[in-house]
Amino acid sequence: MIGDFHVHTCYCDGEATPRQMAEAASARGFTALGFTGHAFTPFDPGYCMSPEAAAAYAAEVRALVAEYAGRMDILLGAELDLFGENVPFRPDYAVGSIHYVRVGEDYVSVDDTRPLLQEGIGRHFGGDPLALARAYFRQYEKLPDLPGVRIIGHFDLLTKFGLIDEEDPRYRAAALEALEGLAGRDLLLEINTGAMSRGYRAVPYPAPFLLRRWHELGEEIILSGDAHSPQGLACAFDEAAALARDCGFQDRAFLTREGYVMTDL
Ligand SMILES: [Zn+2]
Ligand SMILES: [Zn+2]
Repeated sequence: MIGDFHVHTCYCDGEATPRQMAEAASARGFTALGFTGHAFTPFDPGYCMSPEAAAAYAAEVRALVAEYAGRMDILLGAELDLFGENVPFRPDYAVGSIHYVRVGEDYVSVDDTRPLLQEGIGRHFGGDPLALARAYFRQYEKLPDLPGVRIIGHFDLLTKFGLIDEEDPRYRAAALEALEGLAGRDLLLEINTGAMSRGYRAVPYPAPFLLRRWHELGEEIILSGDAHSPQGLACAFDEAAALARDCGFQDRAFLTREGYVMTDL
């Protein structure tokens, strides 16, 4: 079973059309492909789908669902941000992600650029990355409330630019507390290789100490490419699977049009 369930297109910040992504996936023998366009964040409209773009995206993906039926399961999903809007269509599933730390009416992006994150840490957290991390992780409590969210996106995205000391026990305690709060809620944690395919990181999200804890809690994972181009589809999944096995997992979730199944890593 080959598939990727975290996929972006030119309707948001991806490079290719849904059709081009589906053609590339099909050519590589995928049995399933799930599209997850970024839902609208009105305070940061640059990378996401306006409600109009989202409607066009849904129409194009739905046409592909029918066209590929019997060959490759295509799913119409969305990546919702904790602080964004819902999509104006009924998705087959949703990835729930936190791309910001909200401070009052201000949003510090942990995903945009290193200087912006550094500036946000200075402006709102007295220059203390640990304070930002604590605020970031506290936000996870509300993430499962987003409609249709089944997959937790890039749990420790805030480490993207290397500004956080992931060895600091206080950092780890904050991250683990947030993770433990997500357990027992029928959620899948993704091992996300998106920052590898785009050259930001050499390893997937999340860090091994988090994956090990998720496994101890009896929870399940899914592999995600967070693909923004055909090359990003299922990128470095061999490494992600090796990491998962190393952290104790033996299988992973896989989405189909009939629901999700567990399959060997
Ligand atoms: Zn994301
Ligand atoms: Zn994404």
